[in-house]
Amino acid sequence: MIHLSFRRRDGLARTGVLYQGARPPLRLPAVAGWREHFADPGTLQNTNLPLCAPVAFVSQYPPPEGIQPVSIHPQRENRAQSGDCVMVAGWQTAFHNPRNYVDWLIGLKEKTPPDTVWYAPASALPSTVAILCYSGFDLFDYTAVDLMSAKGRFCTPEGDLPRDAQESGICSCPGCAVHDLKEHNRSVVREEIARVRWFIDHGQLRDLVESRCRLDAAQVAILRHLDRQYTVMERAVPIARGGVMRANSGESLHRPEVRRFMERVIGRYIPPKTDVAVLLPCSAKKPYSVSRSHRKFQQAIGGRAHELIITSPLGLVPRELECVYPAGHYDVPVTGHWDAEECTVISDILVRYFEKHPYRRVIAHLEGGALKVAELAADRCGMTLEYSCREHPAGTAALSALDAALAGERRIKDNRLLGMISYQFNADVDTRGIVSRGRFPELFYSRDNSQLFSIDTATGLLRPTFNGWALIPEGYRVQIDDFMPEGDVLVPGVTGADPAIRDGDEVLVKGARAIATGRAALPAEDILRSRRGVAVRVRKIKKL
Ligand SMILES: [Zn+2]
Repeated sequence: MIHLSFRRRDGLARTGVLYQGARPPLRLPAVAGWREHFADPGTLQNTNLPLCAPVAFVSQYPPPEGIQPVSIHPQRENRAQSGDCVMVAGWQTAFHNPRNYVDWLIGLKEKTPPDTVWYAPASALPSTVAILCYSGFDLFDYTAVDLMSAKGRFCTPEGDLPRDAQESGICSCPGCAVHDLKEHNRSVVREEIARVRWFIDHGQLRDLVESRCRLDAAQVAILRHLDRQYTVMERAVPIARGGVMRANSGESLHRPEVRRFMERVIGRYIPPKTDVAVLLPCSAKKPYSVSRSHRKFQQAIGGRAHELIITSPLGLVPRELECVYPAGHYDVPVTGHWDAEECTVISDILVRYFEKHPYRRVIAHLEGGALKVAELAADRCGMTLEYSCREHPAGTAALSALDAALAGERRIKDNRLLGMISYQFNADVDTRGIVSRGRFPELFYSRDNSQLFSIDTATGLLRPTFNGWALIPEGYRVQIDDFMPEGDVLVPGVTGADPAIRDGDEVLVKGARAIATGRAALPAEDILRSRRGVAVRVRKIKKL
């Protein structure tokens, strides 16, 4: 009998605990000895088929029934159920072909319930566990490192080295102290898994994977192929995290949350009513408004234009969205120079935005790479840019030129709330009569003294009250059965969920007896495909 409890999820990766009868519980992701934790290998006949074996071959070798782990294979119909431990034999061979790795992985994930533990036998090396966990594997054994020990290879998170590297002082684990290669290799894979667990719990696994994969071309290729599976990966990535998003590599441009931000700015976001825009550079400090340079820009603009920040890797951040994850959370190396891919991807975003929202005047208050990108975009959509500077945007001369360029333009009505509602809930809302109070960025919105929304300063997301939800006509609803929720809403009580819901989204729970506000703990699809676990962390319940 196994029992499974996931704690944190980040994309396909999870942390949690696996309880297996009388055996000691395992903190996932975990590496464990085969005999202590898994079925007797003798009972697993017909499970070790090559991953590339065709259907006709695989169907001749049905896996054993009724034992854990349940063997799954890209060419076999899914037999696993919620709560099972599933095993993908031979996964280490998938590293030889990154495209297959990703195709098989996505296929297997789609046909297997999300609340299952994923075991990759003979696959875990200190250099591969980060990407394996990022791919959604939770459980490993010592076979791969023991094989390395037998071959006289010294394993490190940076790859495996010749045996004499053990004498170089790279590692001072108890194994190395007594020149025991096997003990070292086992200890370093345990250590790396503990590190991965920490990074998952803190919402930073992607940053670790981007750094770990550098020394192995296959892993870089796997990461890039996974990013191309945008629909699947975006669904799994939480809507926000509290910490910093480090955008330090070329892959950052294609991170699912970065692309989701871009797509929502184009597809959902509703700008305030004005036909004058100023393009501004980003600032290292976030949200931009609290930086010195942006305070100067805002003073010079005096509310007479819509402010759009041009930045890598997010592309274009309307002022209204500056606090929303990841706009208020990213850190990026600033050189002033933008590479060709950044220029292409980001100018493309600008073209799409300006084709959807044409302005009478667009003033570029930019320099360097950001200016070049704006010019590229303007060329492509036949837009004439005005320039208030070409260098030192925060300098006195540039700021006076910006002020002068806006002479005669009328002050526009600030509508930060509409910008945020449209982005977060894909809704258009009449915000007339709504007033804000509080000290930026901790704002509260109300109408007729009744509070409608507050801003969660950690994520920059709006938190609607029941009255706030009444303004949002549809979407982000979770339907529950005819019961009175006490505390969090669990998966079995849910009868329906808006497919747009992602882990961390604000949702309205609706049932026959009660409604509740809260935050989704899983994406809609996983809520509907799972049998256990928390679906919504409830904040407030109202009896009907
Ligand atoms: Zn060591």
